[in-house]
Amino acid sequence: MLKPTEILLSLFPIIENRVLIELTKGSLLKDEIADQFQSFFNHLLQTIETGNPSWFDPLLETWANSLTQTDLVESKIIINEFITQLVLIIHQTIVENTEAQQAVQLNTTLMPIYLYLINKTTNIETNKKILYLSKQVEKAKSDLAKLDESKSNFVAVAAHELKTPLTLIDGYTSMLIDMILKQNNSDLLVFTNGILNGSKRLRGIIEDMIDVSLLENNLLILNYQPYWLNRILEFVLLELSPVSKDRNISINIHDFDGYNLMNYGDSERLIQLFKNLIINAIKFTPDGGTISINGRKLTGFIEVLISDTGIGINQEDQTTIFEKFNRLGNIALHSSSKTNFKGGGPGLGLPIAKGIAEAHGGSIWVESSGYSETDFPGSTFHILLPHLDKLPENNK
Ligand code: ADP
Repeated sequence: MLKPTEILLSLFPIIENRVLIELTKGSLLKDEIADQFQSFFNHLLQTIETGNPSWFDPLLETWANSLTQTDLVESKIIINEFITQLVLIIHQTIVENTEAQQAVQLNTTLMPIYLYLINKTTNIETNKKILYLSKQVEKAKSDLAKLDESKSNFVAVAAHELKTPLTLIDGYTSMLIDMILKQNNSDLLVFTNGILNGSKRLRGIIEDMIDVSLLENNLLILNYQPYWLNRILEFVLLELSPVSKDRNISINIHDFDGYNLMNYGDSERLIQLFKNLIINAIKFTPDGGTISINGRKLTGFIEVLISDTGIGINQEDQTTIFEKFNRLGNIALHSSSKTNFKGGGPGLGLPIAKGIAEAHGGSIWVESSGYSETDFPGSTFHILLPHLDKLPENNK
C-alpha cells in the first residue's frame, strides 16, 4: 500500500495546476505563487514524514515577515487565507482523485497538520498586527509629545515676543508723559494716556490668549495656597468699584455659608476667574442695574452664584459662550470699552474662567431665562469650587 507522502507526491501535478488556476488571478504572480506552493508542499511532506508540524514554523514566519505595510494597515488576513485555500484544494484533489479508503487515511493524517497550520498562522499574523499597531501607537504618542512640546514652546515664545515690544511702548510712553507733565502740555497728555491705555488693553488680550493656550494644552500650573473667598471677592470688587460706580451698578455680596472659610487654591487665578465674571456682569447689565453675589456650602464644594439684572443669555448660547472666541451678537455693534454696556472683548473671558474652575477640580455654568434687551431677564453664573482642608498632594 502506498505511503501518504507517495500518494501526495503523485497528486502534486494536479494540486499545483489547481493552485495556479485558482489562486493566481494575474499572471504576474504566477511564478511567486508557484514557488510558495512548492515550498509549502515540501514542508507538508517533511511534516508527514517526521510527524512534527513545527517544521512549518520558519516558513510561516518568513511569510509573516514579508507582509507589507498596506496588509498590516488594512488588517488583511493574508497568510491564513492563503493556507486555508491551499488546504481546501489539497483536500478536494484527494477526495476526487483517490479511492475512498485512501482518501480517509490521507485526510486523517493531514487533519492535525491543517489544524496546526490554521492555528499557527492565526497567531503569527495576529501578533504581527498587534506589534505593528503598538508601534504605531508608540509613534503617535511620541508625535503627540513632540507636538505638545512645540505648542508649549510656541506659547513661551509668543508670550515673550508679544510682550517685549509692549514693554518698550509702555516705557517710552511713560517717559513721554513725564516730559509732557514737566512742560504742562495737557493736550499731549490726553494722547499719551490714550497710547498707554491702548497698550494696557493689548497686554490684557495677549495675556488672555496666552492663558487660553496654556489651558488648552494643559500647561496651566496652579500655585495652591490658602485662600478665603471673602477676601478674593472683596479684592475684585474694590478693583472694579470705579467701573461699577461709573455705570451706577450696585454690587451686593451676601454673607453665605462658606464665604469666610479657609480653602486651598490658586488665589491669583481665582481672582482672575471672578474678575472675568463680574466684569461681564457689569458689561451686560444696563446702567443702574444690580449684581448679587451669593453662594452655599455643599458636601466637598462651595458654590458661588453671580447674578445680574442684565440682557440675559439664550438657552442655545449657554454652553457655546464658554468656548473661545464665542461672543454673541453683532460684533460691529459692540462698543470698544471693556466695561461699557455691551462693551467688546475677544471672547476669552469665559473660556479662561471655565479653565481655571476646572483646573481646580470645579466647574462653571450659567442659567438664564433668555436674552432680552427690553425685559433684562438677567443671568446667574454658578461657580463650583472644591472645598479642600489641606494642600493637594501633588502641589505641596
Ligand atoms: P467677551 O466678554 O470678551 O465677549 P466672554 O468669554 O467673557 O467674552 O463672554 C462671551 C460672551 O458671553 C459675551 O460676548 C456675551 O455675549 C456673553 N456673556 C457673558 N457674560 C454675560 C452676562 N453676564 N450676561 C449676558 N451675556 C453674557
